[in-house]
Amino acid sequence: MNETALRALLTALAASLFTRGFSVGSAGNISARLPDGYLMTPTNSCLGRLDPERISKLDPDFRHIGGDAPSKEVFMHRAFYLARPDAGAVVHLHSTMATAVACLPDVWAENPIPPLTPYFVMRVGRKMPIVPYYRPGDPAMEPAIAASAQDARAVLLANHGPVVSGKTLTDAVHAAEELEEAAKLYLLLRGAAPRLLTPSQVDDLLTTFG
Ligand SMILES: [Zn+2]
Repeated sequence: MNETALRALLTALAASLFTRGFSVGSAGNISARLPDGYLMTPTNSCLGRLDPERISKLDPDFRHIGGDAPSKEVFMHRAFYLARPDAGAVVHLHSTMATAVACLPDVWAENPIPPLTPYFVMRVGRKMPIVPYYRPGDPAMEPAIAASAQDARAVLLANHGPVVSGKTLTDAVHAAEELEEAAKLYLLLRGAAPRLLTPSQVDDLLTTFG
């Protein structure tokens, strides 16, 4: 996909997320890898009203070279791209259900949302670790995300929200949506002792679709 088409797709997918309530105000940011750098949503932009021509362009070293100034949360995206060469796009949201799980003190930090459905496992993978709380903009957050992203496609920032990668922009957006739905199911089922997918069912999914 060329840069013009990727800008148009990013604008359309961001508007779709905003319209369906996955993002409010200027929360959330999205990036995508290009052969010569990255596209990144601008700082203080609303996902519902992006202008494709003003989306920030970054060089391969994440320096701003075009469009509006990039989101201040660009370092979260850099952590994923450097940790995961397979990442073609990164989506960060403050979506309600996933962020609610990120505020629970008693979840398993390695995998706060258990394997309830095959779709969550197929989209997000075997685990989604929680990264401890950091003040927004704290540079110490980047190495913490990078360490967790080595062997996970997505992380949950404590008391903040999810950061999700995908091979393509569409994959990353679909994974962020599936994560939000899985978080909703998990919260609905808390205390109900639901039947989980077994480890061998998870292995089978990741072998077949991973
Ligand atoms: Zn954020």
